[in-house]
Amino acid sequence: MSELNLILLGPPGAGKGTQAQRLVEDFRLPYVATGEMLRDAVRQGTELGKEASKYMHNGDLVPDDVIIGLAVERIKQPDCADGFILDGFPRTVDQARALDEALERMGRKLTAALFVDVPDEEVVRRISGRRQCVKNEQHVYHVEFDPPKHDEVCDQDGARLIQRDDDKPETVKHRLVVYHEQTEPVIGYYEERGILRRFDGARSPTEVHDHIRATLATLRLEEDL
Ligand SMILES: [Zn+2]
Repeated sequence: MSELNLILLGPPGAGKGTQAQRLVEDFRLPYVATGEMLRDAVRQGTELGKEASKYMHNGDLVPDDVIIGLAVERIKQPDCADGFILDGFPRTVDQARALDEALERMGRKLTAALFVDVPDEEVVRRISGRRQCVKNEQHVYHVEFDPPKHDEVCDQDGARLIQRDDDKPETVKHRLVVYHEQTEPVIGYYEERGILRRFDGARSPTEVHDHIRATLATLRLEEDL
């Protein structure tokens, strides 16, 4: 069977995590999210993990070559032999190029870059509508899609509901500016290479998932011909 080496791209609030979870179940592939990958490497105390922790400790951005090294190290693990789902990497064209080169040295290549696209207004609507319980951060609501019975009160324990700073419209808009600056060149990079696949993230998670599955099935058929 052919490998499924996948990248997930999309703005915050596009539901990439949900899609990744379903793909993990469908194809039994490891989900490699950058944040988790960094934490694992630091915990395991690998050379690169030690290097990364120096920067993280000082609150600095971990430099490109360290991130690239960690991602490549991760992909070389046996559980990634049949494929992987990368999320949060590559974030820049330099990282995308480095990933391609590393895969080529392994005799592998990317199957597809799955781009879950959601318009900015929809991202702001989804994220800024979130409300979280002050007592238990697992108690999450949405003013439009999943409202509590009483405004600003948690259904489960009656505690107050708040909007996290990260979810405030101004913060979300700023994150979107950063996202567009960083990610659009990466999207262009994969488009030029003919492996970008676009999905309408404004649709329901189930519809997006069905569409991704159908696309991957077609890609595999084409590869096997
Ligand atoms: Zn609560």
